Amino acid sequence: MSEVERDTQERKAGEIEVRYAGQTALVAAGTPAKEAIERFEPREKVLAVRISGEGPFPLDTPIGSPQDVPHDTPIDTLHDTPHDTPADTPLDASPQSPVEIEPIFESSPEGLEILRHSTSHLMAAAVKKLFPQAKLGIGPAIEDGFYYDFDLGRSLTEEDLPRIEETMRQLAAENIPFVREVLPKAEARALFESLGEVYKVELIDEIEDEKVTIYRTGDFVDLCRGPHVPSTGYLKHFKLLNPAGAYWRGDEKRPMLQRIYGTAFPTKEELKKHLEFLEEVKRRDHRVLGRELELFSMHEEAGAGLAFYHPKGAVLRGIIESFIKQECERRGYVPVVTPHVLKGDLWRISGHADFYRENMFFLEIDERQYAVKPMNCPAHILIYKSKPRSYREFPLRFYELGTVYRYERSGVLHGLLRVRGFTQDDAHIFLAPEQMEDEIERILDFSFYVLKTFGFDEFRVMLSTRPEKFVGTEEIWEKATAALQGALEKKGVAYEIDPGEGVFYGPKIDIKLKDAIGREWQATTIQVDFNIPERFDITYAGPDNVQHRPVMIHRAIMGSLERFMGALIEHYAGAFPVWLSPVQAVVIPIADRHLDYAREVVERLRAAGIRAELDEKQESVNKKIRHHEKQKVPYMLVVGDREAESRSVAVRKRGQGDTGSRPLDEFIVAVVKEIEERA
Ligand SMILES: [Zn+2]
Ligand SMILES: [Zn+2]
Repeated sequence: MSEVERDTQERKAGEIEVRYAGQTALVAAGTPAKEAIERFEPREKVLAVRISGEGPFPLDTPIGSPQDVPHDTPIDTLHDTPHDTPADTPLDASPQSPVEIEPIFESSPEGLEILRHSTSHLMAAAVKKLFPQAKLGIGPAIEDGFYYDFDLGRSLTEEDLPRIEETMRQLAAENIPFVREVLPKAEARALFESLGEVYKVELIDEIEDEKVTIYRTGDFVDLCRGPHVPSTGYLKHFKLLNPAGAYWRGDEKRPMLQRIYGTAFPTKEELKKHLEFLEEVKRRDHRVLGRELELFSMHEEAGAGLAFYHPKGAVLRGIIESFIKQECERRGYVPVVTPHVLKGDLWRISGHADFYRENMFFLEIDERQYAVKPMNCPAHILIYKSKPRSYREFPLRFYELGTVYRYERSGVLHGLLRVRGFTQDDAHIFLAPEQMEDEIERILDFSFYVLKTFGFDEFRVMLSTRPEKFVGTEEIWEKATAALQGALEKKGVAYEIDPGEGVFYGPKIDIKLKDAIGREWQATTIQVDFNIPERFDITYAGPDNVQHRPVMIHRAIMGSLERFMGALIEHYAGAFPVWLSPVQAVVIPIADRHLDYAREVVERLRAAGIRAELDEKQESVNKKIRHHEKQKVPYMLVVGDREAESRSVAVRKRGQGDTGSRPLDEFIVAVVKEIEERA
């Protein structure tokens, strides 16, 4: 008979029956929850526990947050809101047995959150030790790590971080317990006021409960609902990442605080792996590469979120544009070109002037209101409406590389990924309801073809269905959703359903692509629209010669050219395949006497359609090679006496170095083939 079973049978007064994973054990009242759970020999470290039971909730639960559960909460409610409790909470309130304890392991998503949030406390304790005048903001766990905000009266720099990290390690080595206290609100307020913690006082004033919880780690005290790890010794594998400025409560009118970002993991290996990932992310940053490779720039004096394409970036963009135009035309799309500025009235009919107003740029001309277009749809509708339409034209597919402008808060702008001006590879397709499924299948083929050609081969497809607020009938929504779903299934595309996440005007399919290091990027969107055809009252003559309402599909394959280019730059870390490289070959003469032959080589390459440049700077060959390696040029052709004489080139291939001499003709044929194959 195991110890666990024996305990259950001999339950005495003052003992609590504890259950976990179908097993039961008896523990003395007052046993910390962590110790109780250890009777079951859990497979790994327990950071906190979740407790539930019959009768009134038995435990002294943390108070002071929306998640908090007052003592007299009916048990039904508790079951709905599982509650995390510090692992050292004593089972001390003579509960109605049995009590169910569920451990929160270090490796679980919640455990990781507890670990990271606890590390933010540790960091705050270290900062207070080094900067006693520091005032505390907040310190939550976030995706991939944590942060804490401080009012330090000065800026932090990268150089401050090692010192803070060192102090954190000392505090961790001391294995200081996280001690929870429940205080009346007024008492807690007085405590933080006496400590000069004005931001904490502000937070306390907003808490509605009568009691709040605070946590002490040695001298350090913080207002917090918990839970945390039992002691600082649990915090071993962390790293501070970078300082940043952040307004208190995100409000530009409030003080600017110093934020420190960090990360923490249960194991050394996981931390190491994540730090390597962050290095990769840094190495691929399209904003840095965009500058180094002279692709694009942004200018504060011209306006935030507006991209300027330099010659090399414009070449790359041009390749993408001609590719997508050619593919549209191969698939029965017809081009349209529409103005960038349209009258306010039009945006009122479309509804944008109401529901999209905050994202639009308005201007007044001749006492009339105009808006810079945030979308191309109303413009395409005007072309549709310019003459009577018949089912014989359907599906009618208008496409435009339409440049639009949308206001975004400056705080969310990010390189080419979040901008205020961008160009969509936009199309609007008008069709009869029964044509939907076929057309969606075509768009899916189109999308996967394009994304794969650019080198992406992993995707995540989402189907978003009817939200609570919607226009159109339930019947048409069902029809459209079935069409989208039918197309996905016919194509054998794996997809997830995002219930209720469709736009109010129709269901949609989104395709996210995965880059070389597994990050997801929004690309294709296919949206059915029942709203705009109504608002603009567009019709077509059916085979019955009666006017019908068409269905409209908005679709963009790459989404925005800006974001797509950002994704491409980061996916390839700037080392584009030959067909996308702004400069495909650089010719490097060894000495001045080889210049004539070098020029001839460049001309021959250009005549064959290869983007070639001559490097005639007065520098050593080695220096030139290093420069073009950094520029990630696919081919360097070094020419000297031997090459000039034999009409050949010494080929250095990106990533492979010197690959030896080849006849020029042979090299040209091979590269032209590589470009044609988009390899
Ligand atoms: Zn906390
Ligand atoms: Zn549209």
